[in-house]
Amino acid sequence: MAIRPILEAPDPRLRVKSVPVDTVDDDLRALIADMFETMYDAPGIGLAAVQIGVPKRVLVIDLQEQEGEDGERIREPRVFINPELSDPAEDKSVYNEGCLSVPDQYADVERPVAIQARWLDEDGVQHDERIEGMLATCLQHEMDHLEGVLFIDHLSKLKRDMVLKKLEKARKLRRAA
Ligand code: ZN
Repeated sequence: MAIRPILEAPDPRLRVKSVPVDTVDDDLRALIADMFETMYDAPGIGLAAVQIGVPKRVLVIDLQEQEGEDGERIREPRVFINPELSDPAEDKSVYNEGCLSVPDQYADVERPVAIQARWLDEDGVQHDERIEGMLATCLQHEMDHLEGVLFIDHLSKLKRDMVLKKLEKARKLRRAA
């Protein structure tokens, strides 16, 4: 397992449309292990393979919502291979979203509160479930990555440009440090 570098906006590789996975094999499971390690290290709650420069339709999510007795977040890793979303709920919810590829920037994004999802897990088993709440938001955010879309694309151009400018400024400060 290895922690991989995470691409940051406006890297054009984040705009690539990811391709479906043919076979769920050990190579793919090794990629998934790296994705989890990279996500937990960041730390984040979701990561698409394209964010580490691998344009395949693979997502990992772990909301880590519960805290254990020692205050550590309880891990509940989920893998989505070739995910397909359909039948979005009419009701929308707003979350203040962030993204490991848009570090330290947050903005409110409105998305359907629930969605039907089909995907393969790391054993190649197919799932078909109605997903709601925070997981639905996170899954839709990660799905966007597979189409080369970032959460800032849901904002007005003015807001998006402001976020990109802040990112550039932060990068310059980091280089200067
Ligand atoms: Zn993201």
